[in-house]
Amino acid sequence: MEKVLQGVVAVDGPSGTGKSTTARGLAMRLGARYLDTGAMYRAATLAVMRSGVAPDATTTDADGHDEAVAVALAADLVMSTDPAEPRVRLGGEDVAAEIRGVEVTRNVSAISALTEVRRHLVDEQRRIIAEAHDDGSGIVVEGRDIGTVVAPDADLKIYLVASDTVRAGRRSAEDTSAGRATDATTTGADLARRDRLDSSRAASPLRAAEDAVEVDTSALDVEGVLDRLEELAAERGMLVSALVHTSADGR
Ligand code: C5P
Repeated sequence: MEKVLQGVVAVDGPSGTGKSTTARGLAMRLGARYLDTGAMYRAATLAVMRSGVAPDATTTDADGHDEAVAVALAADLVMSTDPAEPRVRLGGEDVAAEIRGVEVTRNVSAISALTEVRRHLVDEQRRIIAEAHDDGSGIVVEGRDIGTVVAPDADLKIYLVASDTVRAGRRSAEDTSAGRATDATTTGADLARRDRLDSSRAASPLRAAEDAVEVDTSALDVEGVLDRLEELAAERGMLVSALVHTSADGR
């Protein structure tokens, strides 16, 4: 009988470990919602870049407020949590492709290190998770601080890792298939730079939660990783049969 996910799965880890493919794939497989929190930091970064404020410099307005923070907080950001169509809208415009570009990728760590931006987006992430819970849906949430900060009570916490070579290779393949110019050296250097910035920042640095299960995806294909995660979710009693789920929900 078909199984559906109940509760929250947190998927954290550095770039290129397969978080998006895994988190989205798990949500598809188990009839759950999917939230890509990296896309929220990327869209906030795009909003700052479009406003003309330099994302990596602290420019303050006449009242001493950080301009990048003000723009990021005012951004009209709407996330869809359907794993079949995970849209990101900024001011009503679908920016899913643009937020993956090199410019946003280069600047996102600076914006995501701003405490007020994090506080604002974490509130929004918790609201989306609560909404899924109220609807009786499971949700798979991917990012850097989901198990440690956003959803410390998540029913299952996964920390994905992979070797540097595998990570750089995956990122290059993604760039190539999206039509972006790429070379292995630049991709590897960008991953290392973002790892360093994301792990060393004061606000919610990237790290595994103490109760997270580490899964090394270097030698596994996508189905292999999904099988492992499904097994872990089953062990925690998070999978219910679709029929039970439907009747319990009254829908
Ligand atoms: O996962 P993705 O590569 O799209 O994330 C882009 C950036 O957003 C990361 O390098 C990190 O700086 C930031 N991020 C974060 N916290 C999250 C998700 C992403 O700081 N929960």
